[in-house]
Amino acid sequence: MILIQKIPGKINKNLIDIFKDIIIPPLCVVCGKIGPELICRQCISKIKEIGDKICKYCGRPLSRISPDDKGCNFCRNEDFNFYKHRSFTIYKGEIKRIIRKYKYNRIYDLKEVIAVFLKQTYIRNYEYEKIDYIDTVPGKHMELLCRSLSKLIKIPFADNILRVRKIIKQQGLDFMQRKTNIKEAFKVKNCLLSSGKNLLLVDDVWTTGSTLGEIAGVLKRAGADRIYLLTLARGL
Ligand SMILES: [Zn+2]
Ligand SMILES: [Zn+2]
Repeated sequence: MILIQKIPGKINKNLIDIFKDIIIPPLCVVCGKIGPELICRQCISKIKEIGDKICKYCGRPLSRISPDDKGCNFCRNEDFNFYKHRSFTIYKGEIKRIIRKYKYNRIYDLKEVIAVFLKQTYIRNYEYEKIDYIDTVPGKHMELLCRSLSKLIKIPFADNILRVRKIIKQQGLDFMQRKTNIKEAFKVKNCLLSSGKNLLLVDDVWTTGSTLGEIAGVLKRAGADRIYLLTLARGL
């Protein structure tokens, strides 16, 4: 203790960090192995990015790409409010644990790692598109994540979506229940901001797409032009 007090501030801090690491060593949030990174390399290496064999509209992984210009069997008859959707990976294993730790255990330091995943998918699919700003589903974890992504891809983040009523958790609801649950639950704060603009709408998990579809609809009615969806993981 005496030793720490005599050393100048900066070194003190480092020493305290060293002691802290000895008492509570940093662990990988996924597998619990001791190591300097929030997520160890081994866990990161197990996450497989969705490749190029996908529906060009909804981004669903396909065994065979349709030869015509229409969407896959799942989306060709859908009237989507968005222009395209791309996901980084499939919602399972390591990514599922990471998202849960970030969202429910509120380990917000994970935002930097997650933003890098999103950046990879952005670069692969949307880098040459003209995108004016990023927006997301209202909520602290998504806002923090989008602010990190915004710095990485140098597109401004506009916190322009407002939730206007309470919604219950979508988990466990079927498609129709989900749609009803979020119907008219969101508004655009400032229509002037979205009018005539292309935007990147980001979320963590794509399940049935009902929340993102609803928000994309609100943005379209507020005059948005192209809406590019970007999600971290998709259920199917
Ligand atoms: Zn690990
Ligand atoms: Zn499709």
